[in-house]
Amino acid sequence: MIGCTCAVCRSGDPRDKRLRPSILVEIAGGASVLVDTTPDLRQQALTHGMTRLDAVLFTHSHADHILGLDEIRRFNFMQGAAIPCYATDDVWESIRRTFSYVFDGIERQGGGIPKIDAHGIAGPFDVAGMHVVPVPLFHGRMPILGFRLGDFAYLTDCSAIPEDSFALVSGVQTLVIDALRDKKHSTHFTVAEAVAAIARIAPARAYLTHMSHDLGHAETNARLPQGVELAYDGLSLDARVDAS
Ligand SMILES: [Zn+2]
Ligand SMILES: [Zn+2]
Ligand SMILES: [Zn+2]
Repeated sequence: MIGCTCAVCRSGDPRDKRLRPSILVEIAGGASVLVDTTPDLRQQALTHGMTRLDAVLFTHSHADHILGLDEIRRFNFMQGAAIPCYATDDVWESIRRTFSYVFDGIERQGGGIPKIDAHGIAGPFDVAGMHVVPVPLFHGRMPILGFRLGDFAYLTDCSAIPEDSFALVSGVQTLVIDALRDKKHSTHFTVAEAVAAIARIAPARAYLTHMSHDLGHAETNARLPQGVELAYDGLSLDARVDAS
């Protein structure tokens, strides 16, 4: 956190150095699909050697999940194509407002703009050879989406999981889920709330994400139940996705 001198912000443990939340799904021998375009996308792509982008899925329109959208210009250039992006109508409305220069149709000298192939989300869909099941969540009062991909689910930025959505994630083996801190928060699960949701979903393994500097990596991991740990930047997991 900018300007903070707490033990976690000063920690030498690389797992305590956290950029904004996002995942990249790489299908063996196939496509790379990014979930959210964070303000840190450029650094994340450089650090983790990202060379290809076949599609973007958006969970919601908060700044920490969309502000890196302009970075897809590099992939437009390398691949010579627009990037298919998937979001609900309300998220597109926010993106069009936030990135008005991308959508206003005004030709600008010299500067390229990201080339986006915009798709809505209204139920399960196929992207880049993979079947995607949107999982409705509540982020405070805001309805947002998690995504289930085969036996893997990514549920970031949630403070409640609707009853019907528990059925949508039934049987997942690997779960990534929001846990901001221990103290109650209006729009994010606490560690205890995340652990309770994990117990109900019962994946083989679960990873907490979107942690604040209240949660140091090593000390928090040490008190989590068996099969639950904190995710960290660069963590790589194997999962089975459903082919489309
Ligand atoms: Zn701090
Ligand atoms: Zn959010
Ligand atoms: Zn967020």
